[in-house]
Amino acid sequence: MLPGERLVLTTCVWCGTGCQFYLRVRDNRLVGVVPSRSHPISRGRLCLKGWKSFQFVHHPDRLKYPMIRNSKGQLERVSWEEALDYVAGRLMEIKRKYGPEAIAVFGSAKCTNEDNYVLVRFARATIGTDHVDHCARLCHASTVAGLARSFGSGAMTNSIDEIEDAEVILITGSNTSEQHPVIASHMMRALNRGARLIVVDPRRIPMARIAHIHLSHRPGTDIAWINGFINVIVNEGLADMDFVRNHTTGFEEMWEVAKEYTPDVVESITGIPKEDLIRAARMYASAEKAMIFYAMGITQHVTGTHNVFALANLAMVTGHIGKPSTGVNPLRGQNNVQGASDLAVVPGKLPGYQDPTDPEVRRKFARVWGVEPPAWKGFASTQVSDAIMDGTVKAVYIMGENPVRSHPDIRHIEEAFENLEFLVVQDIFPTETTKFAHVVLPATAWGEKDGTFTNTDRRVQRVRRAVAPPAEARDDWWIIQEVARRMGDDYGFEDPSQIFDEMASLMPIYSGISYDRIEREGIPWPCPSPDHPGTPYLHRDGKFNTPDGRGRFFPVRHVDPPELPDEEYPFYLTTGRVGVHWHTGSMSRRIHYLEREVPEPFVEINPEDARTLGVRTGDRIRVCSRRGCVEAKALVTDTVSRGVVFSTFHFEEAPINLLTINVLDPIALIPELKVSAVRIEKVERNA
Ligand code: SF4
Repeated sequence: MLPGERLVLTTCVWCGTGCQFYLRVRDNRLVGVVPSRSHPISRGRLCLKGWKSFQFVHHPDRLKYPMIRNSKGQLERVSWEEALDYVAGRLMEIKRKYGPEAIAVFGSAKCTNEDNYVLVRFARATIGTDHVDHCARLCHASTVAGLARSFGSGAMTNSIDEIEDAEVILITGSNTSEQHPVIASHMMRALNRGARLIVVDPRRIPMARIAHIHLSHRPGTDIAWINGFINVIVNEGLADMDFVRNHTTGFEEMWEVAKEYTPDVVESITGIPKEDLIRAARMYASAEKAMIFYAMGITQHVTGTHNVFALANLAMVTGHIGKPSTGVNPLRGQNNVQGASDLAVVPGKLPGYQDPTDPEVRRKFARVWGVEPPAWKGFASTQVSDAIMDGTVKAVYIMGENPVRSHPDIRHIEEAFENLEFLVVQDIFPTETTKFAHVVLPATAWGEKDGTFTNTDRRVQRVRRAVAPPAEARDDWWIIQEVARRMGDDYGFEDPSQIFDEMASLMPIYSGISYDRIEREGIPWPCPSPDHPGTPYLHRDGKFNTPDGRGRFFPVRHVDPPELPDEEYPFYLTTGRVGVHWHTGSMSRRIHYLEREVPEPFVEINPEDARTLGVRTGDRIRVCSRRGCVEAKALVTDTVSRGVVFSTFHFEEAPINLLTINVLDPIALIPELKVSAVRIEKVERNA
């Protein structure tokens, strides 16, 4: 730290790991970061994104003034008074004309818990709509749906701190070293202490290269290999039948299905050699402490919820749950996607995963909100485009999301947004979505606001205002509260701590947490009282949070993805992220260090496929699905298997979600983002 600087302790803005560090501040500018050595997760370590996190905040592209689209179709600067009056007036008009169910609201996993709580109150109390959702719909909606049914809680069962004591680590569908690098460093420490690593992933990702066993399966065949593990474990007497008898229900029904998935059957479906499957199943089952980690390779499928059921089945059949360093751990992507889910920025729930049809819960919220929340279940964000097209939804209010880039089959959502009567977007940068907005409202960024994030291991942590926002940007919660006040509903919040106290008073899992208690270190929920220390691992002694206290087995079968390669489209396209960029790139692509690392879109292709197509690294190729084409550079690599290509959704130059298919998991309504069929054409030789 240099003279004239001060330090402000905060939580990282990018991934769900929730590393903490100090922001270095000089003359109202963020100038650097200093890691926190005492933080239980980061322990003085950060990834490149963390080190460079502050650099997008002062970017000249920041939205600085409220804008309304004029009669020529241009966004025109207006005063806050005019913008807020206009938004409130239009929303009231639409509500009067069509009813509250004509309005949908999108929250944000990038915003604080306090921002999201005010948004939820705005939607359910002020407007009266349950069409509330956020980007968890695109990543871990199937986790929330699946683990909530299997275990009673849709979150990581263990803390990150416990990883180092694991004996076996099973990673599937998570490129952990790129997407959660600091969690990967905990895994590396476990490996240095003798832990064994199994990676099940179609790609030869970095963790697969150091794994004791890497199983590379065909995309979309997860249920088959997981049932195959269970088949081997039960047939070889490695199941923990005492745990199954004493703490679970539904084993027999599950086994009726899993017993069909012999290693031979699994090999024919997945391509995994049966000897490797057997070896891996024995390794996982025989450990005393075994942890499963997964991410979007499991969840972003039409079978996403069933994939999660299958992993829960695997953990329960071995009794690998409810103990330290032993459990099922979804790695949440965004910094506050756990918090936004906790706050019920999803339809059909109230904050704290409470049931909006429960009369006692309804009364509790009505006492604070002054009105009962809707008892009906709203649309998921992935259903909103269709609802706009059929005339059900007329207005959308978006806080900090960019669905025009992040949702599948982009053309469909663009067409829908063109048909909206009213679209409000509040954000920090112009995005593909603000291009469709009737009103754009400038929000404060991370580093400019106070509040809390809840990380992937359920730890509620402080974020702090270190610098003033640019020009007329305002806190998200303030903007929403001002719109609500103009609609006749005054919440009376003066600062985020008041918001936190109100939401904690309504959510039993947060009710023992306060700003005072998390001043230096966060607390993992559930934390039901002010003297409760928080809960590092869930389901202790096999006590699940289900109504009968037992874990629930669900029988699940393999089904083919909705679109498989054929003669016309012979490749599997699977999508994901790279380590240095973040989601739709609106923040990370404005950081020149990160942009320098990966400046342009690329498509990974296997060397044998590349040879057949006459393609070399750097050649420009066209990737086409039934929904459109994008062009990008080829990257020839053995990371992907033959017949599979991989790309990311960070780049507007090659918006990969033009290609992905808009078919949803019927339970979680998450789209199939991991498997689409494409063909590859060479466009231009790299000079
Ligand atoms: Fe931030 Fe995640 Fe990197 Fe930690 S691992 S510094 S939370 S991006």
